[in-house]
Parts: sequence; structure tokens; C-alpha cells
Amino acid sequence: MKKRILITGGAGFIGSHLCERLLNDGHEVICLDNYFTGSKSNIIHLLDNPYFELIRHDVTHPYFVEVDEIYNLACPASPVHYQYNSIKTIKTSVMGAINMLGLAKRIKARVLQASTSEVYGDPLIHPQPESYWGNVNPIGIRSCYDEGKRCAESLFFSYHAQNNVDIKVIRIFNTYGPRMNPNDGRVVSNFIVQALKGEDITIFGDGNQTRSFQYVDDLLEGMIRMMNSRDGFTGPVNIGNPHEFSMLELAQSVIELTHSKSKITHLPLPQDDPTQRQPNISLAKKELNNWEPTVQLKEGLVKTIKYFDNLLKSE
Ligand code: NAD
Ligand code: UDP
Repeated sequence: MKKRILITGGAGFIGSHLCERLLNDGHEVICLDNYFTGSKSNIIHLLDNPYFELIRHDVTHPYFVEVDEIYNLACPASPVHYQYNSIKTIKTSVMGAINMLGLAKRIKARVLQASTSEVYGDPLIHPQPESYWGNVNPIGIRSCYDEGKRCAESLFFSYHAQNNVDIKVIRIFNTYGPRMNPNDGRVVSNFIVQALKGEDITIFGDGNQTRSFQYVDDLLEGMIRMMNSRDGFTGPVNIGNPHEFSMLELAQSVIELTHSKSKITHLPLPQDDPTQRQPNISLAKKELNNWEPTVQLKEGLVKTIKYFDNLLKSE
């Protein structure tokens, strides 16, 4: 069945892939974005599709439209950008959630929240199941993002309990792929750009901290399966790749795959930087039709390196 779907943050890294995928699946897509960290170039190839609509709008203000489903992705995701204006980050998460939930309530749409593994903070339980409540510093430099997303989850569950809004909440773990913003300071884009330019690879701290990197196509599959999951299943559900790597291992893989002469340099570790991160994905497997990631790190890195290589050559 052809659906009309609203995607907030649709001009961003993940949002632009989601717009493309849902159009290819035969749906009508309305992409809403204020272009803070996203850009028209991410979705320019979709503009001549008559089933695609692009709206410049900020989710901190209400927006009214008739749709069947809403994917709420609007929010800067990289520490450099979400810390740039921390008050605005909180407003985007909290007021954005209120506005999208209010809309979903009025038009009886199903609404999916792009929450994050950051709700677990610097986790004391490893790997992290959804039942873990997290270890977040409420006044640290990451709190605008972590607590904003935690409050958004709380709002989603309150609108569900109080107003019967049809909600779906996913907790996304570190995701990478083509169309990451080369300037947003996230580790995968930083290392690849540095390696391609022959610059030093900047490892923060000793590089033994870990993350679990998921290729964007695996996330999209999990996200869409969650949107279409059985009535009454709200999540939250972890969507991530359980293969865990240290930043040192990541740097070595990037150097090897780019055949770069770059050297590794160590910079101070930012405050409250989580030491480890790995999703427990049993719930996703059980509820989302045996969903699990299929793209291995090296395979995904090769595709991402190709994207950044073309981008740098076109500059
Ligand atoms: P991104 O920064 O590329 O995309 C975010 C998009 O939201 C951008 O296009 C930006 O311009 C837009 N936006 C920001 N504030 C807005 C506002 N007030 N009104 C309207 N649009 C606004 O980041 P991404 O990696 O594509 O992340 C998308 C979503 O997924 C975010 O909600 C993020 O928190 C979540 N997420 C991402 C990751 C990851 O590893 N990439 C991990 C966990 C959660
Ligand atoms: N990091 C790094 N060098 C960089 C950028 C990031 O070593 O140039 C580290 C960062 O300190 C963190 C990890 O890589 O431990 C992942 O950082 P990112 O900002 O990509 O994601 P997040 O910390 O939000 O999971």
C-alpha cells in the first residue's frame, strides 16, 4: 500500500537515505529540514521525483500535514554540532518531539522516534540491553543530546499511555556511510578524510575506547521493520551492529583500506566520552523478523571511503 510519509531531518545523513529508500519502495515522501547539519545536496537527486516534497522548516515550531507515518530524525547527531548550541539541541529534541507527537495524535499517524545509544551514557552494563537505565551525567557537555533524547523518549511513552498515540522508539548505535557530513567531527568521517588527505589520524585518548559501527543500510532495514512491526510493540529497541571495535583498530583499518601514509596522533579525550558501547540486539531479532546487520565493517568502510574520495576530488 502506498503511504504518505513525513521524515523530519530528511536532508541529513540518515534521513536522506531513508527518503530515497521509501521513495524506491513506492511511497510518497515529505522531507522536512532546517539545514542545520543536513544539506540540499544530500537529496538533490530526489527533487525531480513528483512523489518527493522538500520543506524548509524547524521542528521546534508546529507543522501540520496529513500523513500516515512520521519518522522523527531531526536533531544534530555529532558532538561538535550538538554542543555548538546546546540549548537549541534540547529544544529540537524536546519541542520537536512534542510537535511531532501532537501532529501524530491529531491525524492518528504512527510516529517513530530516532533515539540513541547515548541514552545509556557511559554504560556500567555491557553489552547494553533495552532494560538498562543508563549512566548519564545530567549536567555534562553531552547532556543536551543525551538528556534531550531521554526526555523525548519519556514524551513518546507519555503520549502513548495518555493519548494512545501509536509510537515506535528505536535506539540507534553509531552509524556510518556515504553522506556523513565531512566536517561533523564523527570518528569514521574524520579518520577517512584524514587518511585520504594524508593528514594525521586524530585518536582521542589512548584509542582503547570502543564503539559498535553499523552501516547505514542495516539501520534503514531495522528502522523500516520497526515502523511496520506489530500493533502494540512500542520498543524501545536497539538497532546497531554488535561487533565492537576500538578506535585504534578503526584507525588501522582505515589506513589499510585507503593505503594511506597517515600517522596516528593522540589528542586529549573529551569529557564524559563513553569507554565502551555494544548493543544487545536480541529484542530486535525477536520482534523485527530476525533483523540483524549484514554489512561487515570493512565492506561498509570501502563504500564510505569511495564516497569521501569522490567528494574530495570534486572540491
Ligand atoms: P545529521 O546531523 O546528518 O541529520 C540531522 C538532520 O536534522 C539534519 O539534516 C539537520 O539539518 C536536521 N535538523 C537539525 N535540527 C533541526 C531542527 N530544529 N528542525 C529541523 N531539522 C533539523 O545526523 P544523522 O546522523 O543523520 O542523525 C539522524 C537522527 O538519528 C538524529 O536524530 C540522531 O540523533 C539519530 N542518531 C544518529 C546516530 C548516528 O550514528 N548517525 C546514532 C544515534 C542516533
Ligand atoms: N574520536 C576520535 N577521533 C576523532 C573523533 C572521535 O578518537 O577524530 C573518538 C571519540 O572520542 C569517541 C569515538 O571516537 O570515543 C566515537 O566518537 P563519535 O563522535 O564518532 O561518536 P560518539 O562518541 O557520539 O559515539
